[in-house]
Amino acid sequence: MADHHPFLYYWFAFLCIILGRYFLVAGGTHLLIHSVLKQFFVDREIKIDPPVWESIRSDIKLSLFSTVIFAFSAAFSIFKFDRGATLLYADLDKYGFWYLGLSFLGVLVLQDTYFYFIHRLFHHPLLFKWFHLGHHMSRQPTPWTSFAFDPAEAVFQALFLVAIVFTIPLHFATVIVIIMTMTIWSVLNHLGFPLFPTSGYFHWLGQWAIGPLHHSVHHRKYTKHYGLYFTFWDKLLGTDEPNYDSAKQTLRERVLHDNAIPPKPLQTSKSLRSGRLEV
Ligand SMILES: [Zn+2]
Ligand SMILES: [Zn+2]
Repeated sequence: MADHHPFLYYWFAFLCIILGRYFLVAGGTHLLIHSVLKQFFVDREIKIDPPVWESIRSDIKLSLFSTVIFAFSAAFSIFKFDRGATLLYADLDKYGFWYLGLSFLGVLVLQDTYFYFIHRLFHHPLLFKWFHLGHHMSRQPTPWTSFAFDPAEAVFQALFLVAIVFTIPLHFATVIVIIMTMTIWSVLNHLGFPLFPTSGYFHWLGQWAIGPLHHSVHHRKYTKHYGLYFTFWDKLLGTDEPNYDSAKQTLRERVLHDNAIPPKPLQTSKSLRSGRLEV
């Protein structure tokens, strides 16, 4: 068995890794949108809001709290792995290559299901203020919003990651790919503007996979689109925007049009605090 390190050693190491990951992915995407790719969007008539720094500061502040909490959960998992208490494994031959893909997909489906139900629960007026208001403080999401969770919500999200390493055999590589998928998908969902065309292949994919347009609807209409990766639960439980499939183009234009209006940062209206905002 490798060297055992104290819990705080792992916690501090994960704090640096998770923080670095956030600034690299969210900050890198922000820079790409507002500098390198600026002309690309202008050419396609996609209007990108100028950054609202007050909102971004609020998102970064919450993300720092999330980082502390996620670092605890990661440190706890590795600390327990050192003592042989988790189902994490490093030997590729243990379950075969096919299991790497199967366990990856299985965890995505489980996480999507878990997220859908806790997310929907956190929108309950009694819970919203404590569990989820912070995530919705920026009316117009940006990549910085992707990790901005109230500490109570971050605890519930981190618990999922702890639970899977104790209940599902997972190779270290699978865990890394899951976390990368989670990070990149969340940043894409919070771009705040449509990334893909609404026709052809992407239209088919968009039926089942959540993307920026789908999640932008949630940030405008809190009673719709609670999913994380897939639209399955929204469709099954009737929280899908009824016009989303048939009028995606209209929605796209509406999102684009709304984006042209400077967003009001840090709304604290009654409807926002109640978790039932519809605009
Ligand atoms: Zn929400
Ligand atoms: Zn969001």
